[in-house]
Amino acid sequence: MSKNIFNFSAGPALIPNSVIEKIHHGLDDFDRGMSVIEVSHRSQAFKEYAHSSESSLRQLLNINDEYSVLFLQGGATHQFALIPMNFSRNDGVLDYLVTGAWSRKASAYASKIANVNIVADSTSNNFTNVTDSNLWNLTDGADYFFYCANETVHGLEIHEPIESDSPVICDMSSTIASRPIDINKYDLIFAGAQKNLGIAGVTIVIAKKTLLSEVNHELLPMLDYSVHADEASMLNTSPVFAWYVSGLIFDWIREQGGVERMSQLNQEKSSLLYNYIDQSNFYSNPIAHRYRSWMNIPFILNREDLDDEFLRSAEDEGLLNLKGHRTVGGMRASVYNAMPIEGIKKLIAFMDEFSKLHE
Ligand SMILES: *Cc1c(COP(=O)(O)O)cnc(C)c1O
Repeated sequence: MSKNIFNFSAGPALIPNSVIEKIHHGLDDFDRGMSVIEVSHRSQAFKEYAHSSESSLRQLLNINDEYSVLFLQGGATHQFALIPMNFSRNDGVLDYLVTGAWSRKASAYASKIANVNIVADSTSNNFTNVTDSNLWNLTDGADYFFYCANETVHGLEIHEPIESDSPVICDMSSTIASRPIDINKYDLIFAGAQKNLGIAGVTIVIAKKTLLSEVNHELLPMLDYSVHADEASMLNTSPVFAWYVSGLIFDWIREQGGVERMSQLNQEKSSLLYNYIDQSNFYSNPIAHRYRSWMNIPFILNREDLDDEFLRSAEDEGLLNLKGHRTVGGMRASVYNAMPIEGIKKLIAFMDEFSKLHE
């Protein structure tokens, strides 16, 4: 990212400048003069890199030995398919909490091959709120309970872990590493890397070993999480370059002060923008306050006819990719770990000027 622009894309998203510099080095010479995009996943150099990047992630998120960490391909969407394939049992029920586009898609995937029970569905409030947990329709003995911690499209985040008697499976694609998490509260966490942990091409899966020991072993090996774990994510050619970038990002977050520091900064950054939006008569954010995302902040202009002009003028100022998701409309500022506070300040200054011109 050049100095004069700020990229608010929801994903693939911005990468810190210092990491991009390191990527250049890796492209030039990763191992004995070979570029990182030319080396084998089974080379000694990459095996060592894979090992050290896994330890770096384990330190970053405080992941203990009861969990396997996998670096897979297919994106978060592929996990929507693998999760029910691996963990649904005959006649079992899968509980899904639907709070936005991603959890809805995950539940739709699962319902193709298993009995899905929707615990609660935020469709009726346009994905701006979550039904009180006392009113959830939970299944006793469900094979698992699935939810999405941060709905990237709608900007709705569940800030506290959800506890359940069934194994808890969580899509953390757009919130992982934005704050400390208690890994022990989850049985499986997954995240596509291109939001907060790198580039598209690798998906991180953190799974309790006891859960993996119960997978449906009739699956073909490529679809079986436990086989990927046994093969240290090298069952077939690993996404070497994407994995390399993720390793650099883990180190970058640790150098910044780890997830504790990220959490302070993310809270500070998002509050600045929400406070500005809330005091304005020109912009609004529809999400219930306790579920407002730290990472994806949608806002609408009180004059929809100005959307295009807003986006054009923002781009002239170097504020890029603020258009909201096509299903939601309006604007969305994605402010992942790598977004500096200066980016938020510049956005607010621009929004203020724009609103004064049109009030
Ligand atoms: C981006 C995203 C996905 C989809 O990721 P892909 O890598 O494109 O499959 C799923 N869930 C959430 C929460 C996301 O933000």
